[in-house]
Amino acid sequence: MQRSIQGIGMTSQRTRDRLVERLREKGITDERVLEVMRTTPRHLFIDEALAHRAYEDSSLPIGHGQTISQPYIVAKMTEVLLEPGIPDFVLEVGTGSGYQSAVLSRLVPKVYTVERISGLLDKAREAHRLIGIRNIYTKHSDGSWGWPQHAPYPAIMVTAAPEQIPESLLEQLAVGGRMVIPVGTISGDQQLKLITRVSVTNFEEHTLDAVRFVPLLDGSVR
Ligand code: SAH
Repeated sequence: MQRSIQGIGMTSQRTRDRLVERLREKGITDERVLEVMRTTPRHLFIDEALAHRAYEDSSLPIGHGQTISQPYIVAKMTEVLLEPGIPDFVLEVGTGSGYQSAVLSRLVPKVYTVERISGLLDKAREAHRLIGIRNIYTKHSDGSWGWPQHAPYPAIMVTAAPEQIPESLLEQLAVGGRMVIPVGTISGDQQLKLITRVSVTNFEEHTLDAVRFVPLLDGSVR
């Protein structure tokens, strides 16, 4: 079904402005990130039936048992990843709706993103096309293996939670690079972690926030 970007009128801009105010109240300070959140049409990444809730600060279902992340988490992960400066390119694992990659694509020259469910990837690509984004490269695959072709990455963002950080992602992180990743079980605790590769063999780990993500699963499916 075709969707148009008409209808992103004043109403939706006002609700987006309000969302940005909430993000500020919750502690997001990076003006570049706030501006991108203010101007990215999140409602186009959500089924029309739920689009009226697009600018609430909550995660929402996107089908296939998956969710689009809460705007605060999108802003927080983006802010942390880009804090030392803008990398030339970034790898995202877990494209989902394509909203997080759209936010990244407005800040980083090139975004590589991997999704294991092809039905979600098709919709994400369509949303990117609709808003005229052309610097996102997608791959249908199990992102636990990263995307070796473009490695090493100066920045990696993982938006599904493994119980342990996959070795391949650590290997594909450039020395000096940063990875933001939720780690933990679905039922138990999950922590958002910042991993910095300080040398070929040394990684530093910081715990940021308690979070709740869908699990990072093995294999790829239609
Ligand atoms: N960044 C997304 C969040 C989607 S939820 C957004 O902005 O909407 C997490 C996504 O990770 C889901 O779409 C899920 O299918 C995907 N996922 C889970 N395990 C994966 C894996 N091993 N490789 C790639 N994608 C995975």
